[in-house]
Amino acid sequence: MTTHPLFDIAGRTALVTGSSRGIGHALARGLLEAGCTVVLNGRDPERLKAAAAELTEAAAAQAGPAAVHTAAVHTAAFDVTDGPSVAAGIAEVEERVGPLDILVNNAGMQNRAPLLEFTDADWHRILDTNLTSAFLVGREAARRMTERGHGKIVNICSLQSEVARPGIAPYAATKGALKMLTKGMCADWGPYGIQVNGLGPGYIETELTRPLVEDEKFSAWVRGRTPAGRWGRAEDLVGALLYLASPAADFVSGQVLYVDGGMTSVL
Ligand code: NDP
Repeated sequence: MTTHPLFDIAGRTALVTGSSRGIGHALARGLLEAGCTVVLNGRDPERLKAAAAELTEAAAAQAGPAAVHTAAVHTAAFDVTDGPSVAAGIAEVEERVGPLDILVNNAGMQNRAPLLEFTDADWHRILDTNLTSAFLVGREAARRMTERGHGKIVNICSLQSEVARPGIAPYAATKGALKMLTKGMCADWGPYGIQVNGLGPGYIETELTRPLVEDEKFSAWVRGRTPAGRWGRAEDLVGALLYLASPAADFVSGQVLYVDGGMTSVL
């Protein structure tokens, strides 16, 4: 089997924020299996170390040990909401691992509560984690990518970049704003050879959504409203990421690609 050269990203270096578990971990695995050197990020160094070991083992089992060299998985523990930590973290990654070709801004959180009960502290926390983080990490990576004249940035948006539902207004606000930040980054950094796009997952089974998956009424609502008739898996997002990170998408920028089993089209 041959792969079209437009989709060849082997040898690139990619940082995926929030990849100690869930969607970020699956996206990092996809990049690794495509031949990239990957850098995992999260706040807890021990958890990251375990995630890196799991990734190397799983990818080797799937693609064969020859395809995954052990030097291909790295970790960088830093809090994406803290400017100085982000600046130090990106500088350290570039020095230790090499120039970043691909950045995936994936770290995020969700806090479901009626808007009337949402506290100031929770508001600032969700804004920092889901939106400010993409600005901080994106700016730091783009400072270097613009100098080199190329780079791919993918911001993990959401179905909620398009629609809000009860109890999720602050989350929807951050993801809607992330969509616009994606377009703004595309406008500012496009002239320097950087493409910035969004990837918008639908309902995906992860630790973040576990309470919703376990709520049978809600779970049945998701299945019923999704044309594909099921919850998504983190692996469902990998193909779209590999496309957006590849030369096949060199003239695609400022877009959000929804991977949601069709849900955004029918809600
Ligand atoms: P998880 O809660 O399973 O994982 C979140 C990841 O983000 C963890 O690796 C966590 O690492 C990391 N993280 C959180 N805060 C920080 C921080 N301040 N600094 C560094 N890392 C951080 O979430 P998912 O995998 O489900 O979601 C990933 C992304 O996808 C999020 O942006 C989410 O909004 C988005 N998304 C998810 C959907 C879903 O249905 N699951 C649907 C649409 C979008 P650690 O705790 O170790 O620091």
